[in-house]
Amino acid sequence: MIKEKENPYKIDNTLYKRFKEKNNMLFRSLWDNTLPTYQKMIDTNIEKHINSKKDGYSRLDFALVAAGWTVYERFPYAFAWERKDLKDIGYGVNWMKLKYKIENPESFTKTIKKAAKFYGASLVGIADVNEKWIYKTGFVRPEHTSEAEAKKEVREGKATDSIYNNPIELPEGINKVIVMGVEMNEDAISTAPTQPAAAASAIAYSKMAFIISCLGEFIRNLGYRAIQCGNDTALSIPLAIDAGLGALGRNGLLLTPEFGPRVRICKVFTDLPLISDMPNHGFIEKIKNYCKNCFKCAEACETNAITKDKNPTFIAPTISNNRGVKKYYVDVEKCFEFWVENSSDCGNCIMVCPFSKIKEFLSPLEFWNKT
Ligand code: SF4
Ligand code: SF4
Repeated sequence: MIKEKENPYKIDNTLYKRFKEKNNMLFRSLWDNTLPTYQKMIDTNIEKHINSKKDGYSRLDFALVAAGWTVYERFPYAFAWERKDLKDIGYGVNWMKLKYKIENPESFTKTIKKAAKFYGASLVGIADVNEKWIYKTGFVRPEHTSEAEAKKEVREGKATDSIYNNPIELPEGINKVIVMGVEMNEDAISTAPTQPAAAASAIAYSKMAFIISCLGEFIRNLGYRAIQCGNDTALSIPLAIDAGLGALGRNGLLLTPEFGPRVRICKVFTDLPLISDMPNHGFIEKIKNYCKNCFKCAEACETNAITKDKNPTFIAPTISNNRGVKKYYVDVEKCFEFWVENSSDCGNCIMVCPFSKIKEFLSPLEFWNKT
């Protein structure tokens, strides 16, 4: 477990509560009728944008984004908590039932990191499971439904909100988490907030689904348990910080030394005997000092969702932020208003961050023409 003095967070335990995923804006807009974005999603303004003929909002651009989500939305086992049927896919199954003997956890940790990178992770770290970061309740995706279809059913009144209200408890013995970062395409992100930037995010989500699926099956083939997750089940950013992948920035995102906030995060919980990494305290301190005097993301945000306060705080602006952790809070209600208007996520606060290390800023047309 992380020792208190090494904990990279300041937590006010009188305020902090495990997060209910229904309060995530992507779910909250389905049920909270006090929001201006109530029942509005990314698709609300797409045709208006296509008809506007604006660079970066063409039929071609939206086709690129939507197709980027294909694996994330359509692959049925991507977010599995277990392997229900041990089907023979041509390699036999009996050998898979025996538990692989791990004699040296240190060397095996290197093996699992190698496998994660082999399947496509750009970054990988290991952390102990901290119950604080596990959602109290959340969305458990039905095996043969896409996330978008599940949300649409709630939106249209064909399903109850129970799909995003499941109690989340990890099974006993699941005490490690493999946290992975997936780099988002630099050229595409440089066009934020237009659709090629959203496509960089979409394809990274599909890569996440691919990577966790393969890594989860690899672990099960060794006779251990794996719980494959994207943004579901637990807060990815604090887990990534615990796993040594980076630090929390003013923009509310994980900043990594390698790609800054230009990463998506996925994770696999497991009972494998792995050696946990330490938080990257040197980088955390660097970001703490840097963000104090850098307001680039706040200035680039079209809806003033990012605070320009000098110092972080424990107080959250909305119920969609989990209060009680000292940090810069992003007003995600305002952020989501821009997403709905923009018909996609935005990425301005990723694009302008110096840690994203973008070398060349392209227009959407230049993005398409660059070979
Ligand atoms: S994604 Fe866009 S709207 Fe949201 S906080 Fe970042 S810059 Fe602001
Ligand atoms: S743009 Fe500046 S203030 Fe914002 S997260 Fe990056 S380094 Fe921090």
